[in-house]
Amino acid sequence: MHGLIGFGMDKSPNSLLAQTKRRLRRFDLKARKGLGQHFLVDREVLGAIVAAAELSPSDVVVEIGPGLGILTGELAQKAGRVIAVELDDKLAALLKQTLASLDNVTIINDDVLKIAPQDLLEKQAGLGYKVVANLPYYITSPVLRHFLEASAKPRTMIVMVQKEVAEAIAAKPGDMSLLSISVQYYAEPKIISLVPAQCFYPAPKVDSAIVKIDVYPKPKVDVDEKGFFAVVRAGFAAPRKQLANSLAQGLGKDKAEVLPLLKEAGIAPQRRAETLTIEEWAGLWRVFEGGKDADR
Ligand code: SAM
Repeated sequence: MHGLIGFGMDKSPNSLLAQTKRRLRRFDLKARKGLGQHFLVDREVLGAIVAAAELSPSDVVVEIGPGLGILTGELAQKAGRVIAVELDDKLAALLKQTLASLDNVTIINDDVLKIAPQDLLEKQAGLGYKVVANLPYYITSPVLRHFLEASAKPRTMIVMVQKEVAEAIAAKPGDMSLLSISVQYYAEPKIISLVPAQCFYPAPKVDSAIVKIDVYPKPKVDVDEKGFFAVVRAGFAAPRKQLANSLAQGLGKDKAEVLPLLKEAGIAPQRRAETLTIEEWAGLWRVFEGGKDADR
């Protein structure tokens, strides 16, 4: 069980909700739901994100989707440098104006998925960096992959995501999915807390959660990444089916070809993809690779 924080109930003139509404009015803006614009309006939640990032003046932070800049301002107080990437032209222009006095903040007006993290960081790439973001939910998985697969990976990512996605990211064997494997191959995820929908303005239809993703110095298992994920993807081609069937379907092989390989990897063919550990997937990949060598 994870604790629930934030209730988004502060209605005072100084509340984040009041500030958010004032900023939107002042710049004649409306939240664009198509861009995932649900602004965080709860101080407790804001504090929890910043605390989870454990920032110090030597930290470089990449923020995705700074929005109206409330989290950005908090990050800038604790970190040495904040590089914030905002896709919305109007918000980026507003941020350049409202955060002009913070000389350790750089606003980049672009799609975060179009810039390789190493290019974002330029000279600071060698230092190791942290990603902190209240993510636009429509690109959660692509963003995680973009940073975890990059040549310059972050040391840690503190991200607000949809609650169900947080649970999938941090799932244990029994409930694993392609998303859990894709994250847990590179990193150790942990749900920090659950956050109700009313902590955002406008409130989304779903609840959220803060997830901390600590990236390993090297991936959890020693495999060829491309080949490994080809096997994992095939295994999940028909989730809930027995592994022998879904692997055969996903790899375009006969079940009769797959059965001896599963046996060699020590995995019962009746098991389902959701139950395998990353180490078991790695063992399976090794057997499939060996099988390919024998075919040559
Ligand atoms: N950080 C703000 C907060 O916590 O209130 C805003 C978070 S809001 C959930 C997501 C932000 O991501 C929006 O400002 C949206 O415009 C921005 N965004 C959406 N797609 C993006 C993309 N592809 N690249 C960069 N920013 C994006």
